[in-house]
Amino acid sequence: MISVKSTGAAIAKGALPYLCRYLGVNAAFRAARSKSLLVLTYHSVVRDQHYSGVHSDYTVSLKTFREEMTMLARSCQPVSISDLADWWTGKADLPKHPVLVTFDDGYMNNLTNAAPVLLGLGIPALFNICTGYIESAQALWILEIYWRVLHWPNATIPTPGAGIDRTVDPQGRALLAGSVREACKKLPHEECERYLDRLREVEISDSREEKEEVFGFLDWDGVRRLKNKGFEIGSHTVEHPILTRISLDRVDHELRASKLAIEEQIGGVCRCFAYPNGSEPDISSAIAGRVQEAGYDFAFTTIGGFCSRNVNRFELGRICIPGNLSPSAFLNRISGCYSLVKQYVG
Ligand SMILES: [Zn+2]
Repeated sequence: MISVKSTGAAIAKGALPYLCRYLGVNAAFRAARSKSLLVLTYHSVVRDQHYSGVHSDYTVSLKTFREEMTMLARSCQPVSISDLADWWTGKADLPKHPVLVTFDDGYMNNLTNAAPVLLGLGIPALFNICTGYIESAQALWILEIYWRVLHWPNATIPTPGAGIDRTVDPQGRALLAGSVREACKKLPHEECERYLDRLREVEISDSREEKEEVFGFLDWDGVRRLKNKGFEIGSHTVEHPILTRISLDRVDHELRASKLAIEEQIGGVCRCFAYPNGSEPDISSAIAGRVQEAGYDFAFTTIGGFCSRNVNRFELGRICIPGNLSPSAFLNRISGCYSLVKQYVG
């Protein structure tokens, strides 16, 4: 039986963005929130020939990114972290329809692909980096798990937790990779590391060039080049553990060691932090308190996306932009309409 919720979700993803765009619903939503700061999250921006759509939660093609930034520059007023700080302390107001563009993890393609587009359109941005991955050839653990399950060469695949092997047909492989990745996010971090070690016992044959383009991290020289182009560098921890799955002592280490490394390397202050994964089960008031104690000025979640000045500055919401959005679906997201529909229909 088809539920009202699943039917509603299908409509929200399908026809609704077109209707909202052409019936003026998006515009009405944006007008109602003209004074709230919209914050967007991107991850990897890959050249079009390397965009397969498989990693669309974390990757967007350069062509789509350019189109989205052009729409953003036309419909909103991009602002910087310094503008945000001045707004927060009451020194200056933000313009109407303010938007802040952020990137998580620290991919080399942020410098080579995203930065030229941003500079060309005059859009400031915040890049939140995982310092333990900078200059490393390793893929981010969450994406490595996904990648290894997707390209697993054997008939049975170890799964996390109970360690049961499953046989999967190739069509179901992407679905399994996604569900394994999501299951791992809910486990204690050490358990994820043990599971990843098991996956690493089997060699994967894949395209080195594609992997490098999608998952390759910045080196410190690249981080400094972003800083010297006027972009803000924030922390996204050292090793990208989900902070509610580790001890508070390790949380302190992740917050402080990453901030220190960034400040030493860029010769400036690291004011911002982004929670790994950043959804509701991934943060807590105790952790937000530790972020403040570590000396950050602002911290970003992935909950919501429109911020007013009376919200907690250590739990600022962001909207994640996946790589598979049509132009209408993108406009639907940045209007806030999508979040409201999703809240009611799932
Ligand atoms: Zn991340």
